[in-house]
Amino acid sequence: MASSTEQARILDGKLAAKQIRQEVTEGCAALKQRNGVIPGLTVVLVGEDAASQIYVRHKERAATKAGMRSTVLRLDADCGEEKLLQTIDELNADPAVHGILVQLPLPKGMDDRKVIEAIDPDKDVDGFHPESAGRMTIGLPGFVPCTPAGVIELLKRNEIEMSGKHAVVIGRSNIVGKPMALLLLRENCTVTICHSRTQNLPELCAQADILVAAVGRLAMVTGDFIKPGAAVIDVGIHRVEEESQLRELFGDDAKRLKTLAEKGSTVVGDVHPLEAAQKAGWLTPVPGGVGPLTIAMLLKNTLESAERTAP
Ligand code: NDP
Repeated sequence: MASSTEQARILDGKLAAKQIRQEVTEGCAALKQRNGVIPGLTVVLVGEDAASQIYVRHKERAATKAGMRSTVLRLDADCGEEKLLQTIDELNADPAVHGILVQLPLPKGMDDRKVIEAIDPDKDVDGFHPESAGRMTIGLPGFVPCTPAGVIELLKRNEIEMSGKHAVVIGRSNIVGKPMALLLLRENCTVTICHSRTQNLPELCAQADILVAAVGRLAMVTGDFIKPGAAVIDVGIHRVEEESQLRELFGDDAKRLKTLAEKGSTVVGDVHPLEAAQKAGWLTPVPGGVGPLTIAMLLKNTLESAERTAP
């Protein structure tokens, strides 16, 4: 437990992601040697969304570095839903492709749900297909969404006890909050899910041994949300550009001020960093906490898919 003078220990997502990527790299090499199979990941990017371009580039590079066959299929924003669905059909039928990921959000006029449902669940390495969600819910093997899966890996690798502990998840989205709650339940946590209609949110959160913030609100989780000594996981990603706001969140942190001066912004999560550091026992930094694990788990899922179908 962190006393008032003690700071929370860091849950280092960069380190865990590096270890996972190393394990995946070794797994890819072994699979190639054993079965002659190279895991193939294809990312489909529709349109020119700037953030999506960056995410896709990171995924492509990471997969190549791990020894995978990594492809990005770029389609015009106005290619039409039929063209996208036909592309997915072709990838479903291609035995060299073990993982298919359609980068979200899709351009206006395309139905995310219809597109995701078109992906073969055996290649659904993002874990967003309804069949994957159903399998996870009833405890059958299948792909699990990468961000919550990464959080579980991080907790395990830092030997944070989950069984019997009270976990509170703020957020109930299909890609983070809900699967996060189910995975914590699978680890035998007692789970509370909070959302925008939850009453007494700070009081509920302050009962958590493990608190996961996936709420999408900058620094909303302040010290009064945190039980002393709790493990606090910050999934949120936001950019801060104002120095006054940065000082409110980080005090006179020279490194952050330098980043702001050099890059014009710094990344902050859903958790108030200064207040959490004084109260939590464990804390994920932003950046360098949950973020790096998402891509690492995507690679892990892709390797698993290739291993399952290897001759
Ligand atoms: P969504 O916007 O889909 O979901 C947010 C959830 O938070 C909703 O369930 C919403 O409740 C709840 N919520 C919103 N406001 C409040 C409030 N005031 N009090 C309590 N609950 C509230 O977001 P995502 O799940 O997609 O993402 C959450 C955050 O995680 C974002 O900052 C996102 O950028 C980040 N993210 C990070 C990733 C990573 O790799 N690190 C990956 C994916 C997301 P309701 O359902 O009632 O509306």
